[in-house]
Amino acid sequence: MTERLILPRRTLLVLCGPAGSGKSTFAAQHFAETNIVSSDRCRAMICDDENDQTVNRDTFDLFHYILQKRMLLGRFCVADSVALKPYARQNLRSLSRRFGYYGCLLIFDIPPEVCIARDGQRIRQVGESVVYYHAGLLASARQDAPNEGWELIRILHEDTPDLEIVVEA
Ligand code: GDP
Ligand code: MG
Repeated sequence: MTERLILPRRTLLVLCGPAGSGKSTFAAQHFAETNIVSSDRCRAMICDDENDQTVNRDTFDLFHYILQKRMLLGRFCVADSVALKPYARQNLRSLSRRFGYYGCLLIFDIPPEVCIARDGQRIRQVGESVVYYHAGLLASARQDAPNEGWELIRILHEDTPDLEIVVEA
């Protein structure tokens, strides 16, 4: 059974989940490439390496900058980053508020073992220790999210039925 989620055009859809939980795959399956602003892609644009955490400040400057430019034009936005730390979600929530955007948080509640197995199949792997660290942050994110002011929170599990996302015209 497919569940349908209808979102306003002026939505910032924030993906939140551990490395390997399937965020980028989900985004590519559901949205046009230009709707998706990816922190990994921003990192690669700056330093050629999607995994280089030493350029995080510049990476997220660019990530937020692109999102703001899109929101200024009223475009639908998907923010593809882990968004597991409270301040990361707060930054995105504040941006969406500033532009009068609907803030939707999509949490990928996928067990670490599954993320590790999927990570292992990728060319650029983040490794087991990072995924376990993310799993700890995920538990806090699930707890904190309802108090963060999102208009909508959806939690995806491994066995969640297919989700169809319709963006209003
Ligand atoms: P991200 O780090 O959360 O962006 O995760 P990715 O989207 O890069 O997915 C990590 C790996 O898991 C990739 O190799 C995907 O092909 C694979 N993957 C993503 N979603 C699924 C899924 O629903 N089922 C299976 N079996 N593999 C998936
Ligand atoms: Mg990704």
